[in-house]
Amino acid sequence: MITTDAPQRPLWPVDDPVAFRAGLRDWVESNWDTAITVREWWSRLAGAGLSAPTWPERFGGLGLSNRDGSVVEEVLAGVGTIAAPMGHVGFKLAGPTIMEHGTAQQCAKLLPALLRGEESWCQLYSEPGAGSDLPGLATKAVDTGDGWLVTGQKVWNSSADVAQRAMLLARTDADVPKTQGITYFLLDMNQPGIEVRPIVQMNGDAKFCEVFLDDAYVSRDDVLGRLNNGWVVNRTTLAYERSSVASRPRRGLVELASGAKSGNLDRVIAEVLQARPKVARHTGNALPWKQVLALAQANGTAADPCVRQELVQYYTMIELQRMTALRSKAALAAGRHPGPEGSITKLVISQICRKSRDLSFAIMGAYATLAGESAPEGGELLRVGLGSPGVSIGGGTDEIQRNTIGERALGLPHEPQTDRNVAFKDLVGARRQS
Ligand SMILES: Cc1cc2nc3c(=O)[nH]c(=O)nc-3n(C[C@H](O)[C@H](O)[C@H](O)COP(=O)(O)OP(=O)(O)OC[C@H]3O[C@@H](n4cnc5c(N)ncnc54)[C@H](O)[C@@H]3O)c2cc1C
Repeated sequence: MITTDAPQRPLWPVDDPVAFRAGLRDWVESNWDTAITVREWWSRLAGAGLSAPTWPERFGGLGLSNRDGSVVEEVLAGVGTIAAPMGHVGFKLAGPTIMEHGTAQQCAKLLPALLRGEESWCQLYSEPGAGSDLPGLATKAVDTGDGWLVTGQKVWNSSADVAQRAMLLARTDADVPKTQGITYFLLDMNQPGIEVRPIVQMNGDAKFCEVFLDDAYVSRDDVLGRLNNGWVVNRTTLAYERSSVASRPRRGLVELASGAKSGNLDRVIAEVLQARPKVARHTGNALPWKQVLALAQANGTAADPCVRQELVQYYTMIELQRMTALRSKAALAAGRHPGPEGSITKLVISQICRKSRDLSFAIMGAYATLAGESAPEGGELLRVGLGSPGVSIGGGTDEIQRNTIGERALGLPHEPQTDRNVAFKDLVGARRQS
């Protein structure tokens, strides 16, 4: 089992739901303390197995089912604690991929820091010439004998500016077809040779970045899976990415960016809570249906038959999405990678985000175009609405999800692929990029 610095892990009575819930409440009562630092709180959570209770015990979790895991969130949310350090990319993508493909040393080196929120991650996949066609990536890793030097450009990398580590796909063999010459590296972002430039989006956020790699070093120990087998390892990450797109911490929990660079670790919790904005920021790109309903009730448009229809449709979409997400979770709990369920969930989320934008803008009219804290909902309508197109692109576009559903769920013929047996170096894109 991976050890953490925290003292004794409680013996949770996980087989008895009532005792488990009571034990959790006792634990929270003795451990949640707004006078301690965020680092200490996350360390306590990790030490008790509560950062990732659904992870297997040997990786620092409690091996709980999703249902029992959600009891942990429910109890923590009931007290309004800071959420476990569940940075999307690290916790939901890097963690499960490392658990599945990593060596014992990689798991021991990387997972505890993730669970304690000390390190955050980013995903260095997309490139200016390789997005939907990810296997066409051109970033090169050259073997130097004791490791690799990586050179190339990545783009749209969420939270790369605050990440200590990255999941990196790079080409290690251009003489074989494109999916066969890629290696999956675990890159240390704190080194010379890596320049990160945040990109400001139209809603004012700067959540993703361009990353320039110029002879960035990766050691032999930081290859995940085998050399040139990165595309196979990557399938694990992509499956988790599609299925996790909808999951957010339970309402009531305070979400906080993890990792040393985010600057939260050594802050005292009371100060963090006090400094929070008065209007809660939405981490997603859709408004909760109750909030949209409240907007319509407040300005009288709820009486408009057209708005009422749209409100019901919005509610229905959210409920259907919730149920589809349960199927993804059931697949995971049964030890299966979620397949088309993940694509369906992702596609429906895109539609929900567009609906949220269109409906909230229709209800609020010109007021929805106002920005800043004095605007309706503290400017959140505009910020969330303008963020909605990104959902249809990040993690695989809507069109790509439709391809996956067509091919894997409906059994339609695969897209024609003329480059399956062509060496990467002979592809037109490769010649243009080199
Ligand atoms: C919010 C957000 C967060 C992101 N985070 C990350 C991240 O952390 N790390 C990372 O590496 N990348 C990230 N990305 C990048 C994202 O994965 C790519 O933008 C995405 O895969 C699409 O690639 P592209 O932008 O190159 O578009 P292209 O692949 O060039 O696509 C252009 C258009 O063509 C369509 N198209 C392409 N191929 C097909 C096909 N075969 N069939 C039908 N239509 C097709 C697409 O659907 C799209 O409409 C993020 C993007 C966004 C918006």
